[in-house]
Amino acid sequence: MTSTIPSNPSSRSVTPDAAPSPVSGRIRERLMQAGVPYFANDSLADHLLEGELDQLEVEVAGKVREMLRSLVIDIDNDHNTEETAERVARMYLHEVFKGRYHKQPKIASFPNVKHLDEIYTVGPISIRSACSHHLVPILGNCWIGIKPGDRVIGLSKFARVADWVFSRPHIQEEAVMILADEIERLCKPQGLAILVKAQHYCMKWRGVKEPQTSMVNSVVRGDFRHDPSLKHEFFELVKQQQAVLST
Ligand SMILES: [Zn+2]
Repeated sequence: MTSTIPSNPSSRSVTPDAAPSPVSGRIRERLMQAGVPYFANDSLADHLLEGELDQLEVEVAGKVREMLRSLVIDIDNDHNTEETAERVARMYLHEVFKGRYHKQPKIASFPNVKHLDEIYTVGPISIRSACSHHLVPILGNCWIGIKPGDRVIGLSKFARVADWVFSRPHIQEEAVMILADEIERLCKPQGLAILVKAQHYCMKWRGVKEPQTSMVNSVVRGDFRHDPSLKHEFFELVKQQQAVLST
């Protein structure tokens, strides 16, 4: 049995660049000093230093490995799970929660030179997220309605920003607000409406096990909020888009 206290500290092999603490601890410290929140649905991408994401991947894989051991899974001999920890770490950091760790895709906005002010809707846009409570999938669609302001963005960009925002642990009510904030920041529309319909595996796969239940919520801002006829028009346009799907 080896002692945990080295008899001669100077003989310990120390890598010169060795991190003094887990990388998550260093990132957390930095965020706290800057007063930046790091809730599950916040993006940290602007606060990560070069190379830290790779280090996080190693750290998370190590913790997942420990979780699997705690679940009494023989990861040393089970060929199906021997690399599960690495896969889960990659999946969280680079796929399903990439909206926390990767920067927002570059989205260019352009001047609204023709002063377009008719509303339009984009959808359905597939959304994939996970509930903050259990980290199980939330899958659904969203529709975005815009009354353009001074700037416009390409239609496909709405799907890109939605994917980025939803790829974090969420509760649906807050996800819609965060997406609305991002779209307002990108193109400052005179009016913005977002409708989300999603199925929560929290309710389908576990808990009450209700396979058909879905959650629908919306946010309306600017002219959509102040003008009931515009809000009505948005929901009518969404209905038409849904009808196109079923034909
Ligand atoms: Zn849940």
